[in-house]
Amino acid sequence: MAQETVNIILVDRQRLLKASLFSDVKSKVETDLNRLFRNELKLSFNMLYRAVDATTNERASFRKFDFVIYIFNQKDPPRTDVREINQIMQDHQIRDKGEAGKFYRIAQEEWRRDAGEGIGIPPLTGYRKVGFIKMDFIFRRTTCEPKDFLTNVVKHEFGHMCNAAIISHTKQLMALSVPCLWVDYLPEDRARIFATLRYLQSFNEQQLDKQYIKSNP
Ligand SMILES: [Zn+2]
Repeated sequence: MAQETVNIILVDRQRLLKASLFSDVKSKVETDLNRLFRNELKLSFNMLYRAVDATTNERASFRKFDFVIYIFNQKDPPRTDVREINQIMQDHQIRDKGEAGKFYRIAQEEWRRDAGEGIGIPPLTGYRKVGFIKMDFIFRRTTCEPKDFLTNVVKHEFGHMCNAAIISHTKQLMALSVPCLWVDYLPEDRARIFATLRYLQSFNEQQLDKQYIKSNP
């Protein structure tokens, strides 16, 4: 089996994230995820930065191994409104029906909540997913080193985007309040991520969309 690449794409049109911080986080996230999943799944993990926002068409056309996470401020200027969060979900074709549809309301609550460092919308039985990080929240937590905290937050949202801890948070990396210091996924969360990646490998986008629509009527 040829090695496939998983892209974790941070979209930062307001340039809230400095290049040096991005490169620290990139090397940590890639090292950790490659260690956890590369050998068994023949997947290699790559984190990318883009300051140019994705167009509506592009948002609808990301592939199953593209994990797109938007970097915004929740409160500090330039702040992003909850309506835009929902619009981006719609553009990424997150289904507004069934189990999938519930995540529109969850995202509204999570974006307004004082705590909570970001949001990861799960693909469920499909592949459509998207993430958001509250960058001002990352910097506001002054007891944390931003590069360590942001590394954990990216891995936390990636976990949700692989269906881990979507009903309720667990512990360690998927705890409700993401810790600053390095922690790993709990074995059951790792197993869930592993199963989702393997599931994505097994089907093409058309088949995944069909399944997603069928199970979210
Ligand atoms: Zn979470």
